[in-house]
Amino acid sequence: MSQLFGCCRVVFNDALAYCQEQHRAGNKKPSSSELSKRLTELKKTEEKEWLTEVSSVPLQQSLRDLEQAYSNFFKSSKGQRKGKKVKPPRLKKRKSKQSARFTDNSFKLYPNSDYICLAKIGDIQVIWSRELPAVPSSVTLIKDSADRYFVSFVVEFNPQQLPKNGQSVGIDLGITDFATLSNGEKIKSPKPLKKQLKRLRKLQRNLSRKQKGSKRREVARKKLAKLHAKISDTRNDFLHKLSTQIIRENQTIVLEDLNVSGMMKNRKLSRAISDLGWRSFRTMLEAKSVMYGRDFQVIDRWIPTSQTCSCCGFHSGKKELNIREWICLNCGTSHDRDVNAAINIKVAGGHSETLNGRGEKVSLSVKKAHLGEASTHPAFEQLSIFDLLK
Ligand SMILES: [Zn+2]
Repeated sequence: MSQLFGCCRVVFNDALAYCQEQHRAGNKKPSSSELSKRLTELKKTEEKEWLTEVSSVPLQQSLRDLEQAYSNFFKSSKGQRKGKKVKPPRLKKRKSKQSARFTDNSFKLYPNSDYICLAKIGDIQVIWSRELPAVPSSVTLIKDSADRYFVSFVVEFNPQQLPKNGQSVGIDLGITDFATLSNGEKIKSPKPLKKQLKRLRKLQRNLSRKQKGSKRREVARKKLAKLHAKISDTRNDFLHKLSTQIIRENQTIVLEDLNVSGMMKNRKLSRAISDLGWRSFRTMLEAKSVMYGRDFQVIDRWIPTSQTCSCCGFHSGKKELNIREWICLNCGTSHDRDVNAAINIKVAGGHSETLNGRGEKVSLSVKKAHLGEASTHPAFEQLSIFDLLK
């Protein structure tokens, strides 16, 4: 396996270096068939003859990965791709995550077996995390930086849509409580990074003291990588379980659009926020909604969800962050700050079960400031950001 990983890396890096060279010379990016030909030539040289010792499929796939990386980069720089700017592909390192992908006839599965067969490697024993829902079209062999091995399958299948249940939920994300649901439920986050911070710092210090290239440094690097892996596993496990539960129980899920990248610029907040994993939580909810036929909505971040009474729609102005509970001056209802916000998020998603005193639906976008309290100008309402400090 390590020989294969090495070969894939060499093929990728060689092709990338060639592309970069052509770019510097002012030429167009070499086509995929040109790169493929280059690989064939490379295998014939005495110097790189060992590339023939591994299956040729993963090597071809490495070239394809490079093509994909370039295409993502080009699309992103032309503005044809949503989301974060994609950087051009970089050379692969021996110590980071390694992978090799087998397609078509280069792998074989046995019925009811704990073994899979990979070309030129042979049978390897696996521990199944779940049953395969269909015949896979490819198998990827992965070794992460903490030296753990995984096999990942690509399968095409139509997930069973969950029966519609008419329930809807608003979710308010925060730091003290990871999520507050509009039904009043509060969910704490495991905050794995915060718990392991001391140990993490110790391992980082340990690593930085070791001489570069030494065996002890490698041991220290592995220890640190293992801890990082453990932290992200704990976080992902929590996020997956919570998002699945929410998707199962509700037909409509409404989330507030938080300015995560803006908040990440605040150095005091950034660690706490990345520890929580809001961004992945949103991505998971989005993906699972599509998978199971649920409606997922994101509401505008400037809707004053903390300032408005969810019972009568009365706009009571900005509240200090230490105010966890308040009583509406208009209708006298006492509110928990987060639960009230979660209900408002749900209402803003257009699935209101909240009616005001006259049997009208409360609409947050229509009800604006009364009685001359705090301005509703967006600049004064960066409450989403400060709400999190609570
Ligand atoms: Zn009220």
